[in-house]
Amino acid sequence: MRIVVDLNRCESYGQCVYAAPAVFRLHGEECLEYDYAPDEVARNQVEAAAAACPVQAITIGRAVVPAGTTGERA
Ligand code: SF4
Repeated sequence: MRIVVDLNRCESYGQCVYAAPAVFRLHGEECLEYDYAPDEVARNQVEAAAAACPVQAITIGRAVVPAGTTGERA
């Protein structure tokens, strides 16, 4: 799976670190580090982390869709 954290939005609350410590960690007090391609077995924890993030900075597993398309096929 793939995850992206919008670090411009992240306020380093650390909720994701508590929810998924194998994937997210705080380096120092403010710098969030994370595994951008964690194993699928971590999905439940990552989903909990995304739900817990107060600023909705975590995006999970979106397929890459070309700009200007819906990504759907007829
Ligand atoms: S829970 Fe959200 S705001 Fe807090 S450290 Fe994680 S990504 Fe950043």
